[in-house]
Amino acid sequence: MDMQTSFLDRLFDAGLLIDTGIDGLYGRSGQFEDVIAAFERLIDTFGGADGAEAMRFPPGMNRAFFEKSGYMKSFPQLAGTVHSFCGSELDHVSLLQCMEVGEDWTKGQEATDIVLTPAACYPLYPTIAKRGNLPKTGGLFDLQSYCFRHEPSKDPARQQLFRMREYVCMGTELHVTDFRQRWMDRGVEMMKAVGLDVTIDVANDPFFGRAGKMLANNQRDQNLKFELLIPITSAANPTACMSFNYHQDAFGTKWGLYLEDGSVAHTACVGFGLERIALALFHHHGLDVKQWPASVRKALWG
Ligand code: ATP
Ligand code: ZN
Ligand code: MG
Repeated sequence: MDMQTSFLDRLFDAGLLIDTGIDGLYGRSGQFEDVIAAFERLIDTFGGADGAEAMRFPPGMNRAFFEKSGYMKSFPQLAGTVHSFCGSELDHVSLLQCMEVGEDWTKGQEATDIVLTPAACYPLYPTIAKRGNLPKTGGLFDLQSYCFRHEPSKDPARQQLFRMREYVCMGTELHVTDFRQRWMDRGVEMMKAVGLDVTIDVANDPFFGRAGKMLANNQRDQNLKFELLIPITSAANPTACMSFNYHQDAFGTKWGLYLEDGSVAHTACVGFGLERIALALFHHHGLDVKQWPASVRKALWG
């Protein structure tokens, strides 16, 4: 049994995660959720004075917006679509026959207008574009959503349905890169407050295929993505618990996001992987929250 399996099994045994029979799809105990809620309040403490506009979208998004985002060009391997039965009574009979004999009953399912949200900020850009030009102060948004990525794994830190808390900033290049730097500093400070040692490193997204390699290299060369890493299942390969992304004017151009003076907005987003942060806390301080260091408990629960 490898290390990853054993941490996952310990989480199951402690009841913190609940096995569903699918890798990367877990229930969470009340205790696990309480840690996430406490950490989110800590995020509020650090970000609260910035005056971000809070919005919550469901874990599914408009398929037309998803198509326009270009997600299928970059990450087709991760996407999840919602399909439904749309047939007649006769079709229903053959569907049930199909299930009866153990054949693939999903073949006849048709795509709906909904796809699973791949990152918390995806539904935001078309929503803000619809409002017209941004105000003089730019835009700052506070999001949280369950996100889906088809990357089944025995690593408890790589789930298929997980929550991402995000802040998204829209404005001039200087405005949004300042925002990103501020959150990198805050991220380090927050993790220190809860007793976690971190490193920050340049990173890239898992762009698909051979052409994707070039996109990934370009993203790294231009320092467009940084990650805050904490060892969870491997000391040699620490896990990204936050990411800090600068999109230049790519999303502004794609979605039609304009500043007050009519120029195209630059955008940046910072994401917290909420399950990963909870797992890092359980990994470092133990599975029994009552035994966590007093300073950590105080930072989380006051
Ligand atoms: P990784 O490199 O580990 O796949 P990522 O670069 O794909 O992570 P982002 O797309 O930047 O991650 O997503 C923002 C945050 O969401 C990450 O920093 C991480 O904390 C969290 N996250 C991403 N994928 C997963 C997952 N499969 N399970 C749990 N949390 C995740
Ligand atoms: Zn984002
Ligand atoms: Mg990933």
